[in-house]
Amino acid sequence: MKITSVDIIKLFKTPSEQCEIGVAGPWHPIIVRINTDEGISGYGEIGVAYGIAQKAGYGMGADFASCIIGMNPLDSEAIWNKLHRQTFWGMGNGGVIMAGISGIDIALWDIKGKHFGCPIYELMGGITNKKLRSYASQLQFDWGLVARNLSKPEDYAEATRKAVADGFDCIKVDPIAYDENGVWYGRNNRGILMQDQLKMAVDRVAAMREAGGPKLDIIIELHALTDTNTSIQLGRLLEPFNCFYYEEPTSPMNPDLFREIRDNVHIPLATGERVYSRWGFRPFLENRLVQVIQPDFCNCGGITEGKKICDMAHTYDIGVQGHCCGSPISTAAALQLEAVIPNFVIHELHASALLPDNIATCKYNYTPVNGYFDIPDRPGIGQELTEEAIENSDVVTIC
Ligand code: MG
Repeated sequence: MKITSVDIIKLFKTPSEQCEIGVAGPWHPIIVRINTDEGISGYGEIGVAYGIAQKAGYGMGADFASCIIGMNPLDSEAIWNKLHRQTFWGMGNGGVIMAGISGIDIALWDIKGKHFGCPIYELMGGITNKKLRSYASQLQFDWGLVARNLSKPEDYAEATRKAVADGFDCIKVDPIAYDENGVWYGRNNRGILMQDQLKMAVDRVAAMREAGGPKLDIIIELHALTDTNTSIQLGRLLEPFNCFYYEEPTSPMNPDLFREIRDNVHIPLATGERVYSRWGFRPFLENRLVQVIQPDFCNCGGITEGKKICDMAHTYDIGVQGHCCGSPISTAAALQLEAVIPNFVIHELHASALLPDNIATCKYNYTPVNGYFDIPDRPGIGQELTEEAIENSDVVTIC
């Protein structure tokens, strides 16, 4: 089998207002479709659907596509290493570089599964986790089909009740990013936090704990908008709420800082959505600086690299919650890998995954029932774009 062409597809030529994620820029998942001389095509995603990197991701996919024309798509390990080692910039571990490698790698695994007529979890070791627990993510945007900027504690409580009513027993919230007027990062969250900032965040979490009851698991997300000092200030005050874990308390760029946070805050730590490849995760693992890693399989290096990162984490008793915020292609890829790994903790369900415009880009709709996903059993990753979605996309074909 040979790769004959690669389509890089930037979804939403006509922008979807519904899918805009508040502060995170325009919503344009970048999809890779690899086509072969045997008529099998595979889909992957370059994990930059939000934020400001879509043009770079689109170009990165096209650049890498030109390196793999004529290769056997079943040789996913060789292709991964070619993109990593023979493209000069590949070994630098940059976010867009690794997202580009990820999109291609996932598409290769999709082809592999379709070629052998099985879901790719079968090729990675089979099902370890029969159902995948998921959580309702980012409740500071409210929960449901319309995003709002929440400020008052009672609004956070109401969002919690909505998520619980949808069947979730775990939620995630950033309690400090919105200031008291609902402005994202309206106040400085670095240096030393003022007492009223701390009270605002604590009151929000208290309201959520009260609304959700003692059995609810609450993940605290900080988006690396706090720093070592301020995350320790806040974390100590949040300890009485028995939070599930404490995400991105500071930037992942200096892993040693997590040691000080870990030693001063008695909440498990998590990071990883902006950490790339085995080399990027290595210091977090070797020093057990976090209890949970959060690789995004669409930017950490794909299925090939994601499996290795998760297995490395397993040897350090570190759990995995994949970061997931893209098109349904990204969800499908994550579910396949999460089904296999023994150190799976929970699947992230961002409200964007429930938006009809996002769901409509793909053929199949995988959503949790009572907070749990079944494992899709279609061949490959089990997901494909619709023709309508491709028609409403910018597409570049490399052949
Ligand atoms: Mg996060």
